[in-house]
Amino acid sequence: PTDALQALDASHHLHPFTDHGSLRQEGSRVIVKGDGVWLTDSDGKRIMDGMAGLWNVQIGHGRTEIADAVAAQMRELSYYNTFFKTTHPPVIALSEMIAKLAPDPYNQMFYVSSGSEANDTVLRLVRYFWDIKGKPNKKTIITRWNAYHGSTVAGTSLGGMKAMHAQGDLPIPGIHHIDQPYWFDEGGDMSPDEFGIAAARKLEEAIDRIGEDKIAAFMAEPIQGAGGVIIPPETYWPEVKRILADRDILLIADEVISGFGRLGEWFGSTVYNIEPDLIAVAKGMTSGYLPMGGVLVHDRVADVLEHTGSEFFHGYTYSGHPACAAAAIANLQIMQDEGVVEHVRDVAAPGFAKMFASLADHPLVGEARTKGLLGAIELVPNKDSRDRFANYGDVGTICRDISFQHGLVMRAVRDSMILSPPLVITPDELEWMGATVGKVLDETGAELKR
Ligand code: PLP
Repeated sequence: PTDALQALDASHHLHPFTDHGSLRQEGSRVIVKGDGVWLTDSDGKRIMDGMAGLWNVQIGHGRTEIADAVAAQMRELSYYNTFFKTTHPPVIALSEMIAKLAPDPYNQMFYVSSGSEANDTVLRLVRYFWDIKGKPNKKTIITRWNAYHGSTVAGTSLGGMKAMHAQGDLPIPGIHHIDQPYWFDEGGDMSPDEFGIAAARKLEEAIDRIGEDKIAAFMAEPIQGAGGVIIPPETYWPEVKRILADRDILLIADEVISGFGRLGEWFGSTVYNIEPDLIAVAKGMTSGYLPMGGVLVHDRVADVLEHTGSEFFHGYTYSGHPACAAAAIANLQIMQDEGVVEHVRDVAAPGFAKMFASLADHPLVGEARTKGLLGAIELVPNKDSRDRFANYGDVGTICRDISFQHGLVMRAVRDSMILSPPLVITPDELEWMGATVGKVLDETGAELKR
């Protein structure tokens, strides 16, 4: 029974990103099964997974082909490492597959088990890169406030979540945060395009202030995800590229969310024409069936790493794990065979955008924005201004809970409601989602008047 499972869970399980006092009182949600875009809980309730787990279940839940591929690999070679000039067939096949899917010329992958480890690896790689180049003073990494780059010490430090920094005396030295391109909150009187340029110029100001000779890299998500789906104005990335074009600073794209199809291309960097030096990936690489991530390395960086005459003292026991590699291969094969990225671009993303456009008329909605299959709805007290509710953050939580009662998982980032469904979502399922969000907004509005 659900009660017994909840009691046992609360007794012995410390959850991530959870207030344990309230978990004990309310009990956790027990999910027992997944099938396509749907989840089933321990009471038999069906719930649409509007967040694709944690932005990662690209091909939907319950694909037995992946279970079969992993089981076959485990019977053959369940584990061996990739340290000290060792390798194995699944990691060889996966590396070739990803090099072909990635834009040219990203031919080398360093494997890890998560997005956080990918970003730790990025930090070590860029500092190592500048040491090799004889510029050891280039240590500082510029990132953005409100970014999420993971939960390890380096990931939290690179990220710009002040509440996370406050727990544990972070960031570590050598990380510098600049403003994010969040027009809805910070655009003031500027048009989105003007604001995009102004936000990008914060990078230029920081470089001028700190000194180019001390800066190793600028790191950013193409679209900030956990920060609230902050879709940058169209002028932002071109201006960032202009600023970095004649400067000796690496550009890092954290594509842990945008990698593997979410924006209607295999990589979000392609959508924004970012051309980074390193790309951090994880999540959608296996659709979450097993943990795996990596850092994709542009040839211009790989060439430098290849001619050091020394070893990069970095790696994880599970770098390139054979069973995880088998899961990634099976996942990417399904995505290719079934045209999942084309489905996002041609069917799902246009349907999703249309649904958001109609929700934009709702009295509670200040802005409804999408790019690919990432979307955010800003809840506001007065749709003609961008002012926030007095109890900023609470309204999102109310709306999220009402949504769950209606059988839809939405995420609340303060008062932004986030959707990021599995990439295989069908037009009928999108229609159900849109109708449900409409009802959820009506009920949230009614609840606020109570
Ligand atoms: N980077 C981004 C952009 C993310 O969204 C996340 C997780 O949500 C991470 C890094 C961290 O990934 P992981 O949770 O696999 O460590």
